[in-house]
Amino acid sequence: MAMMEGNRECGIRHKFVVKHRDRLPNVYPEAMDRLIHWCSIFDAEGMAPVEGGASAGNLSFRTPPGFIITPTRSRLKTGLDWKTFVEVVRTEWHDYVIHVLGTQAPSSDSFLHERIYAARSDVMAVFHGHDELVLRHADQLAREFRMALTAEARLFGTKDDAADTAVELGSHTYIIRKGHGFVAVGRTLDQAGELAVKIHRRAAELARR
Ligand SMILES: [Zn+2]
Repeated sequence: MAMMEGNRECGIRHKFVVKHRDRLPNVYPEAMDRLIHWCSIFDAEGMAPVEGGASAGNLSFRTPPGFIITPTRSRLKTGLDWKTFVEVVRTEWHDYVIHVLGTQAPSSDSFLHERIYAARSDVMAVFHGHDELVLRHADQLAREFRMALTAEARLFGTKDDAADTAVELGSHTYIIRKGHGFVAVGRTLDQAGELAVKIHRRAAELARR
């Protein structure tokens, strides 16, 4: 199945309420360097294609109070400044409210990241990208790699999408979001990034056949 129109991230804003607690995230120099690195790789590999002026994808890593995530409607590219990242420090699931440190709003998928971190104490990084090749070759990839597939194509950014996708990920490290893209997770940022690249390159290989 190809991309579902409503999941192109152009123009779509987060559906939750954002409360800004401070203008800057806490500083985690090493992890922030790796996040900046993987944003540039996602861009270079075409795993976060530009849709309507912003990159389609969002990357995060776990921190003591929550997680650091790329802002909504941002360009994932080389040389990002850590000050543009947003730290999610508290979430209120019932009211769909998110408390952040940083000037920008966090990714529209923030609650998906939150659900995964809550369910998986082994996961330190969550990377989401868009990849037409992975969607096109989903069935073959699922035969070759240990991975999960969402049961259905859902509109992203909703509570249902966040909760159901985290459940469907289960104990896997990779899930294809039907009609949308993929999520790769890892014990480190590098693990999540390397897995995303490995499957992306295999999909590209399948496409060339
Ligand atoms: Zn997406």
